[in-house]
Amino acid sequence: MTSTICPKCGNDTSVLLSGVCRECFFQNFVLAQLPQVLQARICATCGARFTRGRWIDEYDSETVVLKTIEDALSIHEAAEDIEVCINPRQLTPHMYRAEVKIVARIQGEPVTSELSTEIRVIRESCERCSRVSGGYFEGIIQIRATERIPTENELDVCMRIVDMTIDRMRAKGDRLAFITDTIRSKEGLDLYIGSINSGRHICKAISEEIGGTFSESPSLFGQRDGKEIYRITFSMRLPRFTPGDIITIGNRKVVVKHMGKKLTGTDLTDSSRFIATEEETIQAKLVGNIKDAVNAVLVSEEEHELMILDPFTFRTVNVKKPIGFSPVEDEEIPVIRIDESLFLLPPEWRKSEI
Ligand SMILES: [Zn+2]
Ligand SMILES: [Zn+2]
Repeated sequence: MTSTICPKCGNDTSVLLSGVCRECFFQNFVLAQLPQVLQARICATCGARFTRGRWIDEYDSETVVLKTIEDALSIHEAAEDIEVCINPRQLTPHMYRAEVKIVARIQGEPVTSELSTEIRVIRESCERCSRVSGGYFEGIIQIRATERIPTENELDVCMRIVDMTIDRMRAKGDRLAFITDTIRSKEGLDLYIGSINSGRHICKAISEEIGGTFSESPSLFGQRDGKEIYRITFSMRLPRFTPGDIITIGNRKVVVKHMGKKLTGTDLTDSSRFIATEEETIQAKLVGNIKDAVNAVLVSEEEHELMILDPFTFRTVNVKKPIGFSPVEDEEIPVIRIDESLFLLPPEWRKSEI
């Protein structure tokens, strides 16, 4: 092994670390540094932690303490194979002490360092919580229905979609996705939203799941720092029809099964599947709902037809036997009357709704 002379102490050495011998290098070497006192800023309401200029969600105060230490700990850049062991103890609700042990290698040489620090927990209100408590909002989502009033069930479904969307956005780090206020009225639902971005996501999620369209209109709200501040009103229009509605479209009569990007349903005449875009259903008319179905007596079953006693006229009528029709046990069968004609309820609507 070739030896060389350390320029600092003049001794012979086989290895140079940062240009000096091993002894000289480790003489003034500091593996890790940690301030003796640290401050952890956490939100008293939601537990978020303030770090590097912003608030981020944290799960518990132990994690907050660990992360605060990790953020403040600086380790020599030449260190490799670093292991950090943090052992925090809570002294008071607002104070922790922690012992920190760092094990690493410098140029293959094992080095350790033991440090300790005190963490003072400062409880305040994060940007999100102070906005929520102050009733701050950037927009309003007005949920209404087209040519009708939204049903209670639909509004419940909307609220579930809203909660899920907010949770999803928050999990992605968008802390300003929140609802300040929810107002139910005769016409529908008004949601006061923390960010315009969240409003857009919510409306998109609703229209994808239960159909409908939305539009945005800004209105000047005021000025801040010389900039004009706008609030956005999102007009969310739920579709004209809801699942269970019976509509006529062209000469077909259809039970609506699902409203989303498209309307899907079942043709009442032959139980075939029906699918149409929103545009294609513009001419459609609402003629009933499966709730209007009543039971009728099945008089006889032929190869292609069923003879039914019309419960409205008490006359027997023949209807086309649906493919795959299975005989009914109690000889009663749900039917619906539309425009003087009697239709069997499609099989998938029979059991659950009657
Ligand atoms: Zn030396
Ligand atoms: Zn908070």
